[in-house]
Amino acid sequence: MKHSREFEIAWQGLKPGISTFRYDIDDEFMKERVEGNEFKDWKATIGLTFDKKSNFFMLHFDVDGSVIVPCDRCGDDFSIKLWDEFDLVIKLTGDDTKVIEDEDDVIFIPRSETVIDISKWLYEFVMLSVPLQHIHPDVNDKPGCNPVALNLLNKLSEPADEAKNSIWQGLEQFKETGKTNKRKTK
Ligand SMILES: [Zn+2]
Repeated sequence: MKHSREFEIAWQGLKPGISTFRYDIDDEFMKERVEGNEFKDWKATIGLTFDKKSNFFMLHFDVDGSVIVPCDRCGDDFSIKLWDEFDLVIKLTGDDTKVIEDEDDVIFIPRSETVIDISKWLYEFVMLSVPLQHIHPDVNDKPGCNPVALNLLNKLSEPADEAKNSIWQGLEQFKETGKTNKRKTK
């Protein structure tokens, strides 16, 4: 992985209060960090609001972008929107403090670490912005999926329904026979 100064924040040089940053994340940035992923053409812009307090920093990340994913229903690639926001608190610890385990959304760094590399979080937040469900959005109230694949899927699902029906029919018959038998024994 290439080391880039681009994603480093030298917090000591920042004025107390809010500073804003903007990062453009491209396919190369994501591909260097993610392996064997079928997602492609990552494009994301992350707005970072960095609020510098004396002993801690409050970071707010706004992710906006898109990525090409294969549709879970028809298999065709389509562009899905990335849109989410995340908060992170960085607490400064004294140099002699023992390493403190990071909590959820709270990161501890020694005060002596004057440069913070945020590329790890940029990557994580872009990944977390991908919606869990990858299905073509509807177009005019109809599935936006590949019509050929959709047709085929519909055809494949039909015999399954018929099979289900015949099982029920068999059971109905059995039920009927059971009744008749009972009546006979009486
Ligand atoms: Zn689809």
